[in-house]
Amino acid sequence: MFGNKRYSLGKLIRESRDYHTGWQQAWPDPTPKKHYDVVIIGGGGHGLGTAYYLAKEHGITNVAVIEKGWLGGGNTGRNTTIIRSNYLQPESIALYDHSVKLFETLSEELNYNIMFSSRSVLHLAHTMHDLHEVGRRGHSIWANGVDSELLSPAQVKAKVPTINLNTRFPIMGGLLQRRAGNARHDAVAWGYARAAAELGVDIIQQCAVTGFTVTNNKISAIETTKGNISAGRVGAVVAGHAGVVAGMAGLRLPLESFPLQAFVSEPLKPILDCVVMSGTVHVYASQSDKGELVIGAGSDHYVSYAQRGSFNLVEEIVHPMVELFPFVSRLRMLRQWAGIVDVTIDRSPILSKTPVDNFYVNCGWGTGGFKATPGSANVFAASLAGDDMHPFAKPFSLERFATGAYVDEGAASGVAH
Ligand SMILES: Cc1cc2nc3c(=O)[nH]c(=O)nc-3n(C[C@H](O)[C@H](O)[C@H](O)COP(=O)(O)OP(=O)(O)OC[C@H]3O[C@@H](n4cnc5c(N)ncnc54)[C@H](O)[C@@H]3O)c2cc1C
Repeated sequence: MFGNKRYSLGKLIRESRDYHTGWQQAWPDPTPKKHYDVVIIGGGGHGLGTAYYLAKEHGITNVAVIEKGWLGGGNTGRNTTIIRSNYLQPESIALYDHSVKLFETLSEELNYNIMFSSRSVLHLAHTMHDLHEVGRRGHSIWANGVDSELLSPAQVKAKVPTINLNTRFPIMGGLLQRRAGNARHDAVAWGYARAAAELGVDIIQQCAVTGFTVTNNKISAIETTKGNISAGRVGAVVAGHAGVVAGMAGLRLPLESFPLQAFVSEPLKPILDCVVMSGTVHVYASQSDKGELVIGAGSDHYVSYAQRGSFNLVEEIVHPMVELFPFVSRLRMLRQWAGIVDVTIDRSPILSKTPVDNFYVNCGWGTGGFKATPGSANVFAASLAGDDMHPFAKPFSLERFATGAYVDEGAASGVAH
């Protein structure tokens, strides 16, 4: 039996004394079994978290997570880690705030330091329209019992002394959520993987799902590069590749996949202690624990599966960043990368059963699903376990695209991260 010793300060001291010879592999590398009660496709934070909650909260441990590459190698390890719950619609606030609350205690729950930092997130308003939008959203958030504050330009300057208020579109105020912030993205995937493996979940890396055999409207075999596997229930949690995997079951999801890119600068001394976002000039930034500025903006203008991001976006991101923070013109950028984000028409996710009886999808998080990782995983696990969508998930079903009951988050997710 694979067993992990608890991580603790005492363990660290003992290992330092013993030249770090006693650490165990964080999770094993099993050969896939022929059958599982539940198979989760996709080893990002949402998929690994789903497996963890299935085992922890529902006692379903005969579970496999199948990942075509390495854990967190998709959007989980490529995102800019902004966590917040200040969305417009009550359905979204319930789901995203469930997630923020789980983030607050996740390090203790998983015995893994995910470095959650509630350093606050500030959305800037540059026009009267922006002020109305953040005002309306702020009131909606309060009405749903979640913290939110409207700031004047002077309060914005006091909160972020390095900001330039007199940009092309002068800053007229802001919307602040103090409980919002960041966490270490890889650690979220690794923490869930380690805790799920400890409870008996098989984590199978370097194993791509290549097709499904559908018999009597059920997935009877999952075809993978390591052989066929059968499962009672199958959950696809593959973000930008949701359309491709659902297509293997004969389904067409209402999604488009776009590249979304980000940069980090060379490290600086601490100068920015909150996340700053602007949907109007369209950029956002935070400072990592290493001191780098983490910078991002909108997705590419064209659908694509190329994980690069196009050149014109580089200028579109750097230009407003230099306007807001003029000192950035003297900074060197260290790295640039992109992920593939899966975007719906109402900018809300899809958590749903599908027309194929035992096939469920968790996708459509677009540019903003890292913040939802624990909440999404928690309600998706409950939905898979009970064969009925969790109340927080129900408004996000596929049916809304037929009935028109959209959960419109176009404005709250203007710079969605
Ligand atoms: C540049 C960038 C910045 C972002 N910034 C933020 C942010 O600040 N805040 C925020 O909340 N969100 C942000 N996001 C969005 C966020 O990253 C995603 O919504 C979230 O990480 C999705 O997690 P996931 O577990 O669903 O998907 P992923 O982490 O992408 O995991 C899906 C996994 O499925 C695997 N897979 C795909 N196809 C197959 C197959 N056929 N067989 C087996 N495995 C397969 C992939 O390899 C991948 O590892 C950002 C995204 C990007 C790209």
